[in-house]
Amino acid sequence: MAGKNVVVIGGGFGGAAAAIKARTLLGAGHAVTLVDRRREVNLCGMNPMLIAGQRDPRRTTRSLGVLGNRGINVVNAHVDEIDFSNHALRTGDGAIDYDYLVIAAGAEYDWDRTPGAADAYSFYDIASARRLRRRLSRMRRGHVSIGVASTPYKCPPAPFETSMILDWFFRQSGIRQDIEITVSTPEPGPMPVAGPDAMAMILRAFDRKGIQLKSEVSVSSVRSDGREVVYSDGSTAEVDVAVTIPHHIPASIVRDTSLIGPSGWVKVNPKTLETAEKDVFAIGDVNAVPMSNGKGVPKAGVFASAEGETVGHNIAAAINQSSPVEFPGDGYCFIGFGGETSASVIGNFLTEGKPDVHLTAPTARGMRSKERFERDWKRFRV
Ligand SMILES: Cc1cc2nc3c(=O)[nH]c(=O)nc-3n(C[C@H](O)[C@H](O)[C@H](O)COP(=O)(O)OP(=O)(O)OC[C@H]3O[C@@H](n4cnc5c(N)ncnc54)[C@H](O)[C@@H]3O)c2cc1C
Repeated sequence: MAGKNVVVIGGGFGGAAAAIKARTLLGAGHAVTLVDRRREVNLCGMNPMLIAGQRDPRRTTRSLGVLGNRGINVVNAHVDEIDFSNHALRTGDGAIDYDYLVIAAGAEYDWDRTPGAADAYSFYDIASARRLRRRLSRMRRGHVSIGVASTPYKCPPAPFETSMILDWFFRQSGIRQDIEITVSTPEPGPMPVAGPDAMAMILRAFDRKGIQLKSEVSVSSVRSDGREVVYSDGSTAEVDVAVTIPHHIPASIVRDTSLIGPSGWVKVNPKTLETAEKDVFAIGDVNAVPMSNGKGVPKAGVFASAEGETVGHNIAAAINQSSPVEFPGDGYCFIGFGGETSASVIGNFLTEGKPDVHLTAPTARGMRSKERFERDWKRFRV
């Protein structure tokens, strides 16, 4: 059989997992190529700890070049266009042909949808997290607001986790009594996907820690040089540091293509991650895998990684003529409660009826699991 070209766009959680799995299962006569415009990627899951000075950014960076040691062709280039009819990618460095294509290009942020937010603060990428870290380290009193612009956004626990980490941070600095912390969400409360018990557990922690919650409102704009947050219900808040979770959109490479479904994200078969195009798969943040409650599976690295393993396995199975597998829908997300404790939202997100998901109690052991996850990520084990 002639050698096949398996090509992956994106070297984040999903793309790396797909490339590694396909490479592991395929013989040397087949090529696995991973294309990313970046040489290094960051573990954004550690940004909430980074802004509180609990992480060094170097610890949360990994280099894609090392995948070359595993027999994967790593191409550092921006993909400008996918030519589905000719099975080819157009990049600044020339064309790349594929037999099987995995799109793992992630989500991007539309800052313009929330006027003023880009000039205020965020922690949703490494540059904004570093800037926020500097601002918080200088803060002595005032009001920090953390507000979600819209759903879906990456890592549903992140705004709530971040507020609890900041509570801990300001307590450590001895100035908590002079700092107000508010979190806002367009949803009825923190992480409805995890059910009412999980929501109640977080609300009790907020009560204990003195964190205010504004639910069922999104951040519409940030005005007055970052000093005023305007919410979707017309209310406003005077703040000193306005932190926004930006409006998310699919990566530009797919945004205006026929792959996008009614959800606004790439439509896929939930079990196989196949798109409407033959031999083209979409995994991770770029897609919407519908849960039984009608919403998409959370945009989280663990799902991107599990979807990548499923697709990597199935592409190899198609080439090797072996048995395919299905994406099981199991996953988890850490939620740090501040200091040395972390909980997890864990379960099966694709159960019939409603997602079978719960929140574990925050423990020191949970934090050790989060740290192990970080070490595993650094070595491409997740
Ligand atoms: C603050 C924060 C906290 C988080 N916490 C957690 C957590 O605790 N647990 C968890 O599981 N997840 C967490 N996440 C979510 C997680 O980071 C994402 O869900 C995950 O990165 C998605 O992986 P992906 O492979 O789909 O996309 P990405 O990781 O975004 O990778 C996409 C890649 O595609 C490349 N790319 C895009 N377009 C092109 C193009 N045209 N040409 C070439 N390359 C291209 C990009 O450069 C990028 O490297 C968090 C995210 C944030 C922001």
